[in-house]
Amino acid sequence: MSRVLIIGCGGVASVAIRKCCQVSEVFTEICIASRTKEKCDALAAKLKDKTKTVITTAKVDADNVDELVALINDYKPELVMNIALPYQDLTIMDACLICGVNYMDTANYEPEDIDDPAWREIYEERCKNEGFSAYFDYSWQWAYKKKFENAGLTALLGSGFDPGVTQSYCAYALKHHFDTIETIDILDCNGGDHGYPFATNFNPEINLREVSAPGSYWEDGHWVEIPAMSIKREYDFDEVGNKDMYLLHHEEIESLAKNIPGVKRIRFFMTFGQSYLTHMKCLENVGMLSTTPIDYEGQQIVPIQFLKALLPDPATLGPRTKGKTNIGCIFTGTKDGKPKTYYIYNVCDHEECYKEVESQAISYTTGVPAMCGALMLLTKKWNKPGVYTVEEFDPDPYIEALGKYGLPHKESFEPVLVK
Ligand code: NDP
Repeated sequence: MSRVLIIGCGGVASVAIRKCCQVSEVFTEICIASRTKEKCDALAAKLKDKTKTVITTAKVDADNVDELVALINDYKPELVMNIALPYQDLTIMDACLICGVNYMDTANYEPEDIDDPAWREIYEERCKNEGFSAYFDYSWQWAYKKKFENAGLTALLGSGFDPGVTQSYCAYALKHHFDTIETIDILDCNGGDHGYPFATNFNPEINLREVSAPGSYWEDGHWVEIPAMSIKREYDFDEVGNKDMYLLHHEEIESLAKNIPGVKRIRFFMTFGQSYLTHMKCLENVGMLSTTPIDYEGQQIVPIQFLKALLPDPATLGPRTKGKTNIGCIFTGTKDGKPKTYYIYNVCDHEECYKEVESQAISYTTGVPAMCGALMLLTKKWNKPGVYTVEEFDPDPYIEALGKYGLPHKESFEPVLVK
């Protein structure tokens, strides 16, 4: 019997909300709150007769702590699920602390305005000290650890697929298959085709920022940074086939480097087709990926936000996307003194997802773990005060829930390794 406030009603949130409604014995009441209340109302109306979960809606600007506090105090939830954008992570965490409510999200903090001098100063210091230049990192949210501990509240960071499930796969491998993990390769393959010449599978601004940034990986206790898309490998993915994949920086590498003892190397690869990369390079070259506002005929325009308005809304890709995703982790290490390899992954079919929740597999593979993370907190399987990433909790109940609610895993003990 739980009351949950869900912030955001975009591609990922819509799946998470539908999934919460499938588990109405736990999610007895939910409030969907977002910037555009009409979107929340439309989804609530669709679900009303299909679930026992009591759904209400609200309008909130999650950049505004006072508005959030008023809404949380009015609704009195046990948990706030932040499925808006990473820009709102800190304001929502602040509001949760003020109101004494547990928190979770699906991506770590990054600022909307990367030209803000106050933020930039801290960022540049971090680039120098840590050795990677991504705009997002865990330091901002880890800084809340003591505050959440003192308040007796839990903040669960990054319960999507990657970050999220990939970290629970690491915890699972360590718990059941290895004494020591030496290397982790996280492989994210989207074999789906939506038929558009260019579109992003989730929020274009966040997605394009991520893939146009320098890549980096963790090796022998430090970061190695490389130019964007400069390490390419080919891999034959189960149920998808051969794909080109590129090494990217990804947020879970940072927490896994701290939490998997003795790990020597962690890399993250994502598949991209040549057409996607050519479009992206061209947009980057002409300045369309810039987040710095320009003056156009007396109006301030942020190029990447304008681009977002031109591109297909990721939430509309569902009915057009065919094919499968395959996301998982390959490990090398030792068990009982002998070398061992292990691959754990999930395969998800875009069309099956659409049939079930009217959404493609990218939103599905993020929305289901968001619901399962909330389920772990609400059923008290994962409740310790503080701020934690997924690999810091027992993976077994989470992986069981993922299997039950649509994301079962497959395993291989003789995987082809990535060179
Ligand atoms: P969308 O852009 O589709 O949805 C974002 C939602 O947040 C919209 O409903 C939007 O409202 C709302 N929102 C934005 N700003 C505010 C604000 N200031 N106040 C209130 N509501 C706001 O994004 P996605 O659903 O694709 O992504 C959601 C999150 O999931 C992101 O943080 C993304 O990084 C993360 N993600 C994580 C993945 C993982 O595997 N861990 C994979 C994919 C995504 P409106 O429409 O009115 O603007």
